[in-house]
This record gives sequence, C-alpha cells and structure tokens, in this order.
Amino acid sequence: MRGGSIAVVGGSIAGCAAALAAARGGAERITVFERADARLRDRGVGIALHSDRYDELRDAGYVAPEMPWAPLTRRVWSVRDGDTPRGRAVAVQPFPFRAYNWGALWGELRRRVPDHVDYRSGSPVTAAESDDDGVTLLLADGRRERFDLVVGADGYRSVVRASMFPETGPTYAGYVGWRGTSRDATGLPSDGHDAHNIVFPGGHCMTYRIPDGHGGQVLNWVLYTAPPQLDGDHPDLRTPTSLPPGGLTAQLTARLRALVSEHFPPYWAARILGTPAESTFIQPIYDLEVPHYTAGRTALVGDAASVARPHIGGGSVKALQDAAALESAWSAGTSWTEVLQAYDAARGGVGAAMVALARRMGEVQVENTPDWSGMAQPEFDVWWQDQNRGSDRRSGFGGHSIKAP
Ligand SMILES: Cc1cc2nc3c(=O)[nH]c(=O)nc-3n(C[C@H](O)[C@H](O)[C@H](O)COP(=O)(O)OP(=O)(O)OC[C@H]3O[C@@H](n4cnc5c(N)ncnc54)[C@H](O)[C@@H]3O)c2cc1C
Repeated sequence: MRGGSIAVVGGSIAGCAAALAAARGGAERITVFERADARLRDRGVGIALHSDRYDELRDAGYVAPEMPWAPLTRRVWSVRDGDTPRGRAVAVQPFPFRAYNWGALWGELRRRVPDHVDYRSGSPVTAAESDDDGVTLLLADGRRERFDLVVGADGYRSVVRASMFPETGPTYAGYVGWRGTSRDATGLPSDGHDAHNIVFPGGHCMTYRIPDGHGGQVLNWVLYTAPPQLDGDHPDLRTPTSLPPGGLTAQLTARLRALVSEHFPPYWAARILGTPAESTFIQPIYDLEVPHYTAGRTALVGDAASVARPHIGGGSVKALQDAAALESAWSAGTSWTEVLQAYDAARGGVGAAMVALARRMGEVQVENTPDWSGMAQPEFDVWWQDQNRGSDRRSGFGGHSIKAP
C-alpha cells in the first residue's frame, strides 16, 4: 500500500514510532498532532526494556544503541527487617533489562521521525469522525482536516478510541503509582546493575538507576499502593488524571512518608523520603482493552489501544511492537482494508494477553500481597511461577517476542 494521507494523533513514544512506521510503509503525507507544546515535558522517569525485546526492536529499526541506557542484570526483592539498613533479601531473580530515561528514549525516537513528517506540537485533537473513505479530525482551534487513515497514539484517554469504541475506557485498578527520581544513589553497589523491589503489606516499590540525560545517573523509583481515602476538596485519584510533579497535596505526601517510614528498610526509606517534592508525582493505574485495534479507517497503537499494568514492564515494548507490526502490515497490504485487518490480527490478541497477565501481577503484588516476612527464595519461586501461569507466546514478563510463531 503506497501513498495516502495519514494522521497520527499523539506524538509520544507510540506516536513517533507510528509516524516512522507510516513513513517506512510508504505513506505520502504524514501529520502528527501532539497536544503538548514545543517539546514534550521531559518526564525524567525510568522505562525498562527487556534486553531480548530490545534486540528485536533494534533489528526492526525502532531503537538504537546510541540511546543512553544503564544495564540491569538482577532484581532483588527486599523486605524490612528491623533496623538492618537494606532489609532482608526475600529473593533474587534474573532481570535482563535496559534502563532508560523516558526523555532520552522519546528524544531519539522523535529524531528518527523523517523531516517530511509534519509534527505539530500544541495541536490537540478534539474528535475523530470516520466514514467509508477516510477520517475527519476536529482540531481544538475549530478547524477540520481530512485523512485517508488515522492512527490513535493518544494514550489511555484517547479521543480516537472514543470515536471507535465509545463504550470502552480505562478501568481504575484501585491503586496508584507514586513516582520520583532521587539524585542520591550513594551506597549502591558501584556497578549498579541490580534493580531493587522493596515489598510491604499492600504494595511494592521498584527502583533502579537510569541515565540523567547529562552523562550521570539518578535513582528512579515507583511505589504502587492504594491511595488514602480522600475527603473534601482533595483530588479524586479515581478520575483519569495524573497528579503532576509538585502537585501532591499535604495529605498525600503525609501518607507516602508514613508508609515508607513504617515499612521500608532504612537505606531505601532515606532515598525515597529524600526525593524532592518537585520530582514526585502520581499516576493512577488502569486496565484497558479494546475489542479490536482497528475500526473503519482508524487504528490504535500503544496505550490508546491497551494498557497493561506496569508490573509487567512491557508498555513501551508493546507500543514499539505495535508500530513495527503496523509497518509490516502496511508493506504487505494492497488496500487499506488489508493493512488494517492484518494489523488487528497481529496485535489484538497480544494486547489482551498482556493486560490479563499484568492484572494478575497487580492482584498479587499490590491488591492481595503475601506474607513477605515469612517468604524466602523457594516460596517466592512458587509464588512467581503462579502469577506467570497462563502467560503464552503473546505475553510474558517484559513483553512478548515478536519472533514468536
Ligand atoms: C508507573 C508506570 C511505570 C511504567 N514503567 C514502564 C517500564 O518500565 N517499561 C515499559 O516498557 N513501560 C512502562 N510503562 C508504560 C509506558 O510508559 C507506556 O506504555 C508507553 O510509554 C506508551 O505510551 P504511549 O505513547 O502509548 O502513550 P503516552 O505516553 O500517554 O502518549 C500519549 C500522547 O498523546 C498526546 N495526546 C493525548 N491526547 C491528545 C489529543 N486529544 N490530541 C493530541 N495529542 C494528544 C499526549 O500529550 C501524549 O504525548 C509504565 C507506565 C506507568 C504508568
């Protein structure tokens, strides 16, 4: 399929990768509509990519060695043990991941989007109207633009998805991820190749080093637990709204501090509590599945299509693989119908399988945590295998293999 006018709504990880896919697939005119101004805010948070998935995506041309990263080899699960500085190691497991800074990963992908793509920052799309021959986008400035095909890469609150499947939306998982980056990585082993997972009743906290974007490293952490019951005029975390850096209320900050002081080994508590408020924020956790990745002349990629809880460590991999699959369908198809049908067939099942596995992980890692204090490696191994039971070639921790038959 060659030629045609394509719009990509959303210019983040999935959006840049989809624009690249459309360009390689042979689209003639490509426009990216990104709501955020000039440069996407550098989120400064970590994204971990499984090394095997990285290799496949590098071969497919969506990631590259020059993107700065830090190697991770093991994940140590630790629980508080009195005043022992780092607590007790419950278990250690292989963790062959590459740790990225979100901003650097996005920046490299953005750089790869060819110059002929019209990437429009500060351009929110308010609705999409699909008919037999194409899609009309309604822009926030009141204008309308028409395209042969529209790709929704506009995240979990996608307006493109809303036009395709009005009844489908994200479901709040009942807990949030508190995220932060600490400049204080002192006392970590000098190679820093371990990721650490601090576990406590009602949640866990993943932490690992990431490049800081200036040649150094910072400690990235994300703590999953249910937020306190909020009252009065406090923000309702069940609405699909993240609380931005510096936007946490005193009540939320107090809850985080109390939880960490009570349940974290002293070394890790100091790293979390020492993180400045301006680099701490909250993202509610969601599940999202769609009946199909395509409808009419529209397609979905990344979080717009499906959101797997982050315990699976595969959201960005899924987004990049979506783009690679779209490129393959584009190159092989001889009509829009063929392209879209092949893409839906390739990705629909993967999205659903990853959402299901990630939900199981969230249930046992946050909603219904085991008695960590009584757990050691043998019990851990059984517990880990149990939550991974049922994962198949379409899912798996860190994402599925695009080489799977
Ligand atoms: C706590 C947490 C930890 C995570 N950790 C990992 C990890 O370690 N590894 C991993 O692989 N994944 C991880 N993920 C998942 C990962 O961040 C996402 O799955 C991935 O980045 C794909 O994002 P996206 O581009 O689809 O969506 P987004 O990054 O949400 O981008 C959507 C874009 O669309 C734009 N937009 C939205 N609406 C409109 C509109 N109406 N008009 C125009 N533009 C619009 C937005 O401004 C934004 O730029 C994590 C997620 C969370 C919440």
